[in-house]
Amino acid sequence: AKLELIRNFCIIAHIDHGKSTLADRLLELTGTVAARDLQEQLLDGMDLERERGITIKSHPVRMHYKHEDGNTYELNLIDTPGHVDFAYEVSRSLGACEGAILLIDATQGVQAQTVANVNLAIRQNLKIIPVINKIDLPASNLPLCYEQMEEILALPREEALSVSGKTGEGVPELLRAVIERIPHPVLLDERGASALIFDSNYDAYRGVVNYVRVKNGSFKRGTKIRLFNNGIESEVKEVGFFGPEMRADEELAAGSVGYLIPNLKSPADTKMGDTITDIKDPCDKPLPGFKEVRPMVFSGIYPIDTADYEQLKASMAKLQLNDAAFMYQAETSAALGFGFRCGFLGLLHMEIIQERLRREYNMDIIATYPSVIYHVYMKSGEMIQVDNPVFMPDPSGIERIEEPIIDCHIMIPTEYIGDVMNLVMSKRGICTNTNSIDANHVIITARLPMHEILIDFHDKLKSITRGYGSMDYEPAGYQAGKLVKMDILVNGEPVDAFSSIVHVDMAYSRGRQLAERLRDVIPPQMFTIAIQAAVGGKVIARESIKQLRKNVLAKCYGGDISRKRKLLEKQKEGKKRMKLIGQVNIPQEAFVAVLKNS
Ligand code: GDP
Ligand code: MG
Repeated sequence: AKLELIRNFCIIAHIDHGKSTLADRLLELTGTVAARDLQEQLLDGMDLERERGITIKSHPVRMHYKHEDGNTYELNLIDTPGHVDFAYEVSRSLGACEGAILLIDATQGVQAQTVANVNLAIRQNLKIIPVINKIDLPASNLPLCYEQMEEILALPREEALSVSGKTGEGVPELLRAVIERIPHPVLLDERGASALIFDSNYDAYRGVVNYVRVKNGSFKRGTKIRLFNNGIESEVKEVGFFGPEMRADEELAAGSVGYLIPNLKSPADTKMGDTITDIKDPCDKPLPGFKEVRPMVFSGIYPIDTADYEQLKASMAKLQLNDAAFMYQAETSAALGFGFRCGFLGLLHMEIIQERLRREYNMDIIATYPSVIYHVYMKSGEMIQVDNPVFMPDPSGIERIEEPIIDCHIMIPTEYIGDVMNLVMSKRGICTNTNSIDANHVIITARLPMHEILIDFHDKLKSITRGYGSMDYEPAGYQAGKLVKMDILVNGEPVDAFSSIVHVDMAYSRGRQLAERLRDVIPPQMFTIAIQAAVGGKVIARESIKQLRKNVLAKCYGGDISRKRKLLEKQKEGKKRMKLIGQVNIPQEAFVAVLKNS
């Protein structure tokens, strides 16, 4: 298509504000997918995405739309992930567009991730079309949305459209606005062919599939290409677009969004944000914004049954093919045996990977307490990066430990200010700013150690604010903290998987809490079990589990065989999910209990 007839745009929104539903309506209205073939939220391909209502990967789709001016336009929609963990993915997807539909749920108003996404879009110079969604709901509050739009986002209310992704009301007008307001793509001033990789996928038959936006020049089958970041050269096997399934095409020319299949085996070779150029028509410099994604959160993942190790390894390799941000490497734990150290973008990313391993790959796994990367400055002058408490050096050699901190923007109804500030303080945070955004809402800006928001910060925020609070965060460097390694000993033996790094002031309470929790979840055994929490060799909390008195079967009266058998089977089932550590059987629940709510 001619550049003038192309529009590239994405939909940005806070989670649940209706992106996927609106995308369905657009597909339907443009006849890209017939209504009868439309399963709900078509673009959310993975089961997990559909179930949790979040988009994990960007799904581009090409639509054709006949406008009143008689022209047929090529519309490329990129559905972006909607969570802070994936901010870089979002920014790359935005880099493939000229405009963005900004969705605001009429019943919820502007939320923390709405603001974060708008900021990303502005940084990419995108034309923003503000759209208030879910106007079919009786609880929708348009005046509030307009006020927040102007106050928080500085978008004039006159620009807002209102729609219902559910009933389709207002969607034709929105399509018209996409064509009329979003600028068509223009060629870069520089010479040479260039395409931005904004996502990748791994297809079992075709191998690596790059999702690209061609900025200059054109790519077709046989084009000899070079990747800017690592200099790898290859040849294009196929180009095409998503309609929404993959459709091969003659060429992918400047201005368009589609896919490009390089002749490469390893998905890790083609990095998100990298630039592809034509060896015969090379560009001088890469497209802006490339960044190597680095994991921020680490955790060990172990098979419950050691016999599953090889299968777990194969599953991880497969997972990584489709998720370049997920990293893993082999590690061993004295307590858990052979497993993997895994790196994730954030907590949600970690949960998603763990859940996919369990569900899609049917793996029974134990995950250890998540950790951030600590910068440990040694008295020798050396700096060591530690992402696993087990490898924390002896305190005697440490000069100081620095931990990653974040700036967190928390948007809440005004009435909860006090409670939320208390929450922030209980997590070693400081509130640096509060900004009221309308009569009833404020944004609290707080600086917190990243470690402290890993487990339950978001859940607590939600429960304190009855679901109305939302948050967003960005890394804010490193800061020294009084941090110590805390060990948990079961019958005198430290269980490495239970080790964690905690702030001195919190060591006692957390040690006690952990010991109590373990006491409650480890079943009594034939001897008394001591559970201790220790910092630097000093025991700070202890609990014990009294020895088992009677045989389980003695609980059964009479000679009811079937009942006995059931009980034995249950025991056997339970055993499978236990890890024998020293002399003690520790059930999987114990590991989960240690992780929860710290
Ligand atoms: P996403 O997380 O932004 O992709 O949001 P979804 O499209 O998954 O929508 C979240 C929830 O809101 C789902 O339960 C949708 O059915 C519902 N929803 C989306 N749009 C509308 C709408 O216009 N009206 C109503 N009543 N519900 C909607
Ligand atoms: Mg969605």
